Amino acid sequence: MIRPRDDVALMEGYHSPQLDVAVRLNTNESPEPAPPPWVDELADAARDVDWHRYPDRAATALRAAIGALHGVGPEQVFAANGSNEVLQTLLLTYGGPGRSAAVWEPTYALHSHIARITATEVVEGERATDFAVDLDEVRRVVAGSRPSIAFLCSPNNPTGVVDDEATVRAVLDEVAAVDGLLVVDEAYGQFAPWSALGLVAADVPLVVTRTFSKTWSMAAARLGYLVGPAEVVAELDKVVLPYHLDTLKQAAGVLALRHEPDMRARVARLVEERGRLVAALGQLPVDIWPSGANFVLFRPRDVAGDEVWRQLVERSVLVRDCSSWPRLEGCLRVTIGTTDEDDAFLKALEEILT
Ligand code: PMP
Repeated sequence: MIRPRDDVALMEGYHSPQLDVAVRLNTNESPEPAPPPWVDELADAARDVDWHRYPDRAATALRAAIGALHGVGPEQVFAANGSNEVLQTLLLTYGGPGRSAAVWEPTYALHSHIARITATEVVEGERATDFAVDLDEVRRVVAGSRPSIAFLCSPNNPTGVVDDEATVRAVLDEVAAVDGLLVVDEAYGQFAPWSALGLVAADVPLVVTRTFSKTWSMAAARLGYLVGPAEVVAELDKVVLPYHLDTLKQAAGVLALRHEPDMRARVARLVEERGRLVAALGQLPVDIWPSGANFVLFRPRDVAGDEVWRQLVERSVLVRDCSSWPRLEGCLRVTIGTTDEDDAFLKALEEILT
């Protein structure tokens, strides 16, 4: 049988189990469905699509609508099938053989995974013990390896840590000094008190990625984007497949942006619910990390993480098992759900731990 590239043969795929359980708190989706009026508008849009024609290759209306949301022109917006495809296009464009990408672990696993898939060397730095970015370590890695791309993730998945503005600016200075590109992954950006979007400018090597999968309640639609210098967007447009965004998806994004107040209200509800969940977890024998996102990382003190995960599944509750991930031994990550879902999770966890 034909063999894949040697490095691909040695890789593990990226897996997050999709189990049939009552309470799914493992992939940081929105627990609330998209607004019903949006669903109706999308159904109408589906009838209006010229299905025999290719989509608008430039996704003109979608880019303009996203640009308007962030106060930038459409030429500064690149959209793709989920922010993962945005990340992949960045790596195909600026990574590749002979180039490297820097990550500070623990962070979103797909940054290094997609880098490897695109034959980009991965250089790993460490975060501090509280999972904050350690600027000395950033300087060591960037000056030592001169990466073409450096990734930050704020709020960081899976730890929930938000990088402050001074930290992002300092990392940006380091990366710019070696002619690299800084990617700030803001998949959970709406939960954070500030955004690196304000630092994007024509002559600054910075892009900020966002997604419709979480706060916009549209994980099923697979839509993400970045905001960055027009020069970068033009290069990405050369690399991505023609017509990669189908017509209905482009409409889905444009229509969703008309419901921004609903999105903000959902974020506010989740932040409040996160406070309640964290307070309740605080009553149980677990260590918790403060989170600026829609999930919380915790470590059971007396029972192994994978055992707790298994027993939660037995009670039809699915969380993310990070317990075997380097630097996260014994940890689990729970997505903030509805009040009922979180109560089911807390009840099950309490049964297991006490
Ligand atoms: N970045 C981060 C930090 C994420 O957690 C995720 C989803 N798990 C993504 C990007 C990718 O999201 P999507 O492809 O659905 O936009």
